[in-house]
Amino acid sequence: MTGHRLALLGCALAVAGWTSPPPAPAAGGPLRIIAFGAHPDDCELDAAGVAAKWAALGHKFKCVAVTNGDIGHSVIAGGPLALRRRAEAGQAARLLGIETEVLDNHDGELMVTLENRRKIARLIRQWQADVVISHRPNDYHPDHRYTGVLVMDAAYMVQVPFFDPQVPPLTRNPVFLFSEDRFQKPNPFSGDIVVGIDDVIEKKLAVVAAMESQFYEGGCCDVPAGGLPTDTAGKEARRKQVLDHFAARFASTADRFRARLAEWYGPEQAAKIKYAEAFEICEYGRQPAKDEIRQLFPFLPAR
Ligand SMILES: [Zn+2]
Repeated sequence: MTGHRLALLGCALAVAGWTSPPPAPAAGGPLRIIAFGAHPDDCELDAAGVAAKWAALGHKFKCVAVTNGDIGHSVIAGGPLALRRRAEAGQAARLLGIETEVLDNHDGELMVTLENRRKIARLIRQWQADVVISHRPNDYHPDHRYTGVLVMDAAYMVQVPFFDPQVPPLTRNPVFLFSEDRFQKPNPFSGDIVVGIDDVIEKKLAVVAAMESQFYEGGCCDVPAGGLPTDTAGKEARRKQVLDHFAARFASTADRFRARLAEWYGPEQAAKIKYAEAFEICEYGRQPAKDEIRQLFPFLPAR
């Protein structure tokens, strides 16, 4: 037993003695952002605007769906739905100019396990992330909650060499952010960083349109009363209804955080912003001062 343990330790030491340390993040190269959503559509709904803006400036953004979404529809499920949703996430990524990955965990069954913690930590390390985005752990959906917990559980471990000796640890802890939600208990979302996305709203709405199984068709639980239309005019009306709904949702973020927008953009510019995305700074991970936030979100105006 002792010999076996020593052999394992020796192996870990050998692997941990990587020859070249990972490059320091944000040292003049592109920023690297990784966003975790529970299902193929969450990261896109929460952060497609900032993703498009980062990508347009040459920075690297990756969306990870932690489950494959294979029960997220009213009439199809399993492998065929998972493949369809992976294709939709791929189309969204092409529209935004980002990378995407869908993990093969069943929808509705995500658990906080050591294996999943290791997987999330490894993805953050491999991406050499400067910024990590996920759900808060206060949420109606268990997969959202547990995605949030898994990312928080990885927030320190990404730096601990022997947590996963196979992949070099990060030398600088990323900034961890939560994406917006409307849950109030035990505490409401705080919207520390709010970004105007008017310049990329058409792109974000194109992403919504591309995720047809979820929004046009209504996913598992929002199929339109009376079913989906079959005639051309009805289909067009349904498309418009979906895009209007989401445009109003993205506009409501700007209204909800108008005062915070004014802090970042100044009152005059903030008053004109119609659509926004908001993020809360997680207490774990690096705690950025305002100047660093402007470096990490280089599309925020300099002040
Ligand atoms: Zn979801």
